[in-house]
Amino acid sequence: MKEPLILDTTLRDGEQTPGVSLSVEQKLMIAEALDNLGVDIIEAGTAIASEGDFNSIREISKRGLNAEICSFSRIKKEDVDAAADAGADSLFMVAPSSRIHIESKFKGKLGEEDVIKLSVEAIEYAKDRGLIVEFGGEDASRADLDFIKRLYHAAIDAGAVRLTYTDTVGVLVPEKAEEVLRVLSNEFDAPVAIHCHDDFGLATANTIYGIKGGALEFHTTVNGIGERAGNASLEEVVVALKVLYGVQTKIKIENIYNTSKLIEKLTRVAIPLNKPIVGENAFTHESGIHTSAIQRDSSTYEPITPEMVGRKRQLVLGKHAGGASVKAIMNELGYKATEEQMKEILLRIKDVGDKGKRVTDADVRTIIETVLQIKREKRVKLEDLSIVSGIKVTPTASVKLKINGNEKIEAAVGVGPVDAAINAIKKALTGFGDIKLVSYRVDAITGGTDALVDVVVQLKSGDKIVTARGARTDIIMASVEAVLEGLNMLI
Ligand code: MN
Repeated sequence: MKEPLILDTTLRDGEQTPGVSLSVEQKLMIAEALDNLGVDIIEAGTAIASEGDFNSIREISKRGLNAEICSFSRIKKEDVDAAADAGADSLFMVAPSSRIHIESKFKGKLGEEDVIKLSVEAIEYAKDRGLIVEFGGEDASRADLDFIKRLYHAAIDAGAVRLTYTDTVGVLVPEKAEEVLRVLSNEFDAPVAIHCHDDFGLATANTIYGIKGGALEFHTTVNGIGERAGNASLEEVVVALKVLYGVQTKIKIENIYNTSKLIEKLTRVAIPLNKPIVGENAFTHESGIHTSAIQRDSSTYEPITPEMVGRKRQLVLGKHAGGASVKAIMNELGYKATEEQMKEILLRIKDVGDKGKRVTDADVRTIIETVLQIKREKRVKLEDLSIVSGIKVTPTASVKLKINGNEKIEAAVGVGPVDAAINAIKKALTGFGDIKLVSYRVDAITGGTDALVDVVVQLKSGDKIVTARGARTDIIMASVEAVLEGLNMLI
């Protein structure tokens, strides 16, 4: 397999994810991150679609990035004009190619020969306007392959320089992907790309098999976002190609995680916990047998090191915890226990896990200290908290904390009452180290508005990250309790 090019369509197909809409500034940030990551072609949007998309492509094109900047286009002159006016380098131009698409798009009035004619005209026009054309049949995986060949020959003759085989509805299977890409790669001198969707969870496999068949380019989105079940995900394809097939791309894989988190944040599409490579659990271990083996040799239960993709390993305790993981945490906290005490600590940790709860660092510490009968004075205590919130007032919180015995009163505003309360606490703690809230998660344990709310936070100070929980019926108090628990561990 040769080193393939990557066209990343996070900003076009990815933005077509239901509920996602990015501003020009956000698209610029993502384009820069994709360029740093090493993507060859950035499909930055559809210039004709909206003013926002047009402006995004214009601003991204102005940046002078290394990547080729591409606009999606139909076989219409106005689409070509919009892309050219926006300053794009290239088009990913798509023509309906399956019977179902030709019939529905042209309402039965036009047929295959018309598609060829309109495609040729649009490609020639795009060449006149100075654009590089990558051409593909939409829904190609359900189209007649002989028609695809005729259409693509006409496209090449008209001036297209790359071709794409699209699996618009995600019905391709790996065997067919390899076979068709072999046929098309042999048929054409121009590079052929593969564009896959994940409706059956096969997007990564289909993309890789397409490359095996001879595809010299593939389309992806970061985190696999995209319409319906999404597109082939960049991180999965790139890392699988490198690790399992020994095929290199230009991607700097140590930048994958940061890019993925940026895109999660800006699109607000949460990465599933168990998503390969970038999911929170991808390098997290709970089971006791696994964690003790991993501490000796990480390759026992990890196919690649987390550092390879810019991440860190996490060991968490739960009902599968074993003696080794508890010992590791005890060492870290600087505690020593007898065999009997160790057994008791482990038992209590498993008990929290068995109740279906995530065992936080603060839980573990409380359990250890209870069993070892260590009395610890909390260094940060909440003495008072009041909140003002409503339709016409900015949410404001004032707190009275006792820090190492000294009283401190602070007030702060926020986007909501929880945010205001946490901001006030942070303000009161100024000077106690740079503490950051890494994550904040809320679960309602029962269904009603009187439900017990479980808040789990991750706090960071320097290299150290701790998790802590607050559980109350009042979401503000649960949040404050969780943050204070975490602070008491960090300070
Ligand atoms: Mn698509």
